[in-house]
Amino acid sequence: MTGTVLVTGGAGYIGSHACKALRAAGYTPVTYDNLSTGWEEAVKFGPFEKGDLLDRDRLDAVFASHRPAAVMHFAAFSQVGESMKEPGKYWRNNVLGSLALVEAAVAAECRNFVFSSTCATYGDQDNVVLDENTVQMPINSYGASKRAVENILENFGQSHGLNHVIFRYFNVAGGDPEAEVGEFHQPETHLIPLMLDAISGKRDALTIFGTDYDTPDGTCIRDYVHVCDLVDAHVLGLKWLEDGKGSRVFNLGTGKGFSVREVIDHSRAVTNMDVPYVEGDRRPGDCMKLVSGSERAITELGWSPARSNLAQMIGDAWRWHRTGHYHK
Ligand code: UDP
Repeated sequence: MTGTVLVTGGAGYIGSHACKALRAAGYTPVTYDNLSTGWEEAVKFGPFEKGDLLDRDRLDAVFASHRPAAVMHFAAFSQVGESMKEPGKYWRNNVLGSLALVEAAVAAECRNFVFSSTCATYGDQDNVVLDENTVQMPINSYGASKRAVENILENFGQSHGLNHVIFRYFNVAGGDPEAEVGEFHQPETHLIPLMLDAISGKRDALTIFGTDYDTPDGTCIRDYVHVCDLVDAHVLGLKWLEDGKGSRVFNLGTGKGFSVREVIDHSRAVTNMDVPYVEGDRRPGDCMKLVSGSERAITELGWSPARSNLAQMIGDAWRWHRTGHYHK
């Protein structure tokens, strides 16, 4: 089945890649984005409706004019560090904004909903396999705000038949191999783009946030997943809902963790250039280790994260870095 999908945050990093994948799969992605962190140039694969999640009238008008068969909800603030400094910003936009969206979807009888959640909802659980049944104990406001939206979806599923697929992302990286869209945050806070900027001299040396963690090399460990693999899972999640398989939670990670130092080493190998870095303090809110322990997306959705290796993720990010930035 094909149709129209309302993509909130479609002007952002992951949302724009999702729009490309949706269009390739025969859907019409309608981007709904307030451009607070996204880029109009990233909206290349379907119509654009500028709007804010908290603007219920605008949401209702967009549902009425496009009559989407499903929603993919990416729009959110997503920086762990910022969420610790400004929790209100995260609860207002991520939670209240999502509530308005969910209510608008139900009012418009659009009952298939795909939500981008995060492994940050699990919190810092050393030596625990983080599968979908792991108890959620977020340690930062970002993770807490995403968990709250998961609860909203569960309740609206029970009360209003809102079918939802929740994806809990591990660390999304890389970019479109054709560099039509890519990762570009302003300000940038993510490891790989910051590192590529440091390599090319666009900014100062990378600061490693903490070298005294209880990990083999003292730096934090993350499970990196290629953005194209990640958005492929969303298309499979949409089909899952269309097939009437009901609400489900899926982790999206590879089960392999890499430390910050290992990412630096891989970047040196991929770019053939030195990575200038300094060792700094821990960043408040950071978990020591986040590695997905689940095969559920692979076995149940038929997901195949073939591009999620560091060489390809850094290679694709590096190509975008050199050729594709918005606002050069
Ligand atoms: N990190 C770092 N220096 C930076 C940015 C990130 O050492 O300038 C580390 C961060 O502490 C974490 C990992 O890189 O262990 C990934 O951070 P990122 O912000 O990319 O994603 P997050 O895990 O916060 O979602």
